[in-house]
Amino acid sequence: MNNTDLQKQIPRIVIVGGGFGGLAAAKALKHTPARITLIDRTNHHLFQPLLYQVATSVLTPGQIAAPIREVLRNQQNSTVILGEVTAVDKEQRIVRFDTIDRAGVVEPYDYLVLATGVRHSYFGHPEFEKFAPGLKNLADAVAIRNKILSAFEQAEAEEDPKKHRDILTFVLVGAGPTGVEMASAIGVLVRKTLRSEFRRVDPSSVRVVLVDMAPRVLGTFPQELSFAARRRLEDLGVQVLLGQGVDQIDEDGVVIAGERIASKTVIWTAGVAPSPAGKWLNVETDRAGRVKVRADLTVPCHPEIFVVGDTASLDQDAKPLPGVAQVAIQGGRYAGKLIHARVTGASPPGPFRYFDKGNMAVVGQGFVVLQSGKLCLSGFFAWLMWAVVHLCFLALFSMQVSVFLQWVWTYLTGRRGSRLIVNHEPFSRAEQHTSQQPAKELLGKNA
Ligand SMILES: Cc1cc2nc3c(=O)[nH]c(=O)nc-3n(C[C@H](O)[C@H](O)[C@H](O)COP(=O)(O)OP(=O)(O)OC[C@H]3O[C@@H](n4cnc5c(N)ncnc54)[C@H](O)[C@@H]3O)c2cc1C
Repeated sequence: MNNTDLQKQIPRIVIVGGGFGGLAAAKALKHTPARITLIDRTNHHLFQPLLYQVATSVLTPGQIAAPIREVLRNQQNSTVILGEVTAVDKEQRIVRFDTIDRAGVVEPYDYLVLATGVRHSYFGHPEFEKFAPGLKNLADAVAIRNKILSAFEQAEAEEDPKKHRDILTFVLVGAGPTGVEMASAIGVLVRKTLRSEFRRVDPSSVRVVLVDMAPRVLGTFPQELSFAARRRLEDLGVQVLLGQGVDQIDEDGVVIAGERIASKTVIWTAGVAPSPAGKWLNVETDRAGRVKVRADLTVPCHPEIFVVGDTASLDQDAKPLPGVAQVAIQGGRYAGKLIHARVTGASPPGPFRYFDKGNMAVVGQGFVVLQSGKLCLSGFFAWLMWAVVHLCFLALFSMQVSVFLQWVWTYLTGRRGSRLIVNHEPFSRAEQHTSQQPAKELLGKNA
């Protein structure tokens, strides 16, 4: 048998998505005699739980994201492709994707793992997106950072202090972990980092509003932790509006329960919608659009197709598994182990079972609410535990060292990692205006 025949016999495993689920699956297949192709539309694995720290200038993008090919550099059976998957043909067993310069490229598979995560959902109001960006990827985080820092610059340049209130009103829609973390981080940014550097901005003119339809913040946490988080938010100057929906979002701000709040910075931290994996596969999805998988994370009638992480829907003990990193990591790892067993003929693992290690949310610097089993903690000790856990899960050792040093520096000095405004829109508009002006004048004269 020649080399080409041997190559043909080696199973082909395609993993779509290099997030928590996809990367865990790839790593679990490290010793599998197979050709693994991991396709992602970004070139990096992103640590989403720390995105809010990029959006609020604590960390830089490079501290929370690592090139996927660097993470898998020692895994010789894996190839990483930068491409956006557009379709899956279950019968022909091929994945279609677009690369930077080609459309409809085809990749055949024997086993497929879909781990494509979620997108923002504006609950039937796609028009809100233009005025209220969400936080899902690095580009979103940098765009939000630009918006927040630009608001402070705009206020400093504004001589009339009466106008500062509207410029410096930040509204966060959604009081889940991301909304709470963002709101409290903006509170800390105002009180600790910016107050010494701005001469015309009075910190008391800054208003941070956190709004949600739910009756309490962090609705998935035990009630006592929700209350602790709310108290802490209020201590940081965040105004919490609960049980109230957002009727309107436009360029002038938001309308909440009929009342307008003027704001130039509205941030969407509410709903998520799954990736189109369910449509690609044309299989049953739950009400949220996530693919219903069997207990071994495969799709009914297709034992070779696995769906893991936020894109998958599975009930455990009569409750749906939450869309959190641990579900994705454990699901990806499980899919990898099961495929390894099938390829090598080893005995397969039993049905997938998620081990819930608990939930955490940061509420400002040095304060975390933590629930693990029956244990409920809030405060500094919980924050230390949060910091250790998050450092451990960063993809590269260099990121762990860099983030640790940055946190220590920020904690001791209040100074942040990156307060740069990039792609400043008002200036580019102004530049366009001045560069176009002579041409317009010329046209005017000629007309
Ligand atoms: C702001 C924020 C904060 C969070 N905080 C926490 C937290 O504190 N704790 C916690 O447990 N969880 C948290 N989560 C949730 C957690 O990050 C997700 O549950 C987890 O990332 C899901 O992993 P995944 O592999 O399913 O998807 P993801 O990690 O989202 O990865 C999906 C990957 O698929 C790629 N992809 C998508 N579509 C395509 C396509 N068509 N073609 C190619 N590639 C594609 C994406 O580029 C991405 O790399 C947070 C999420 C966000 C957004």
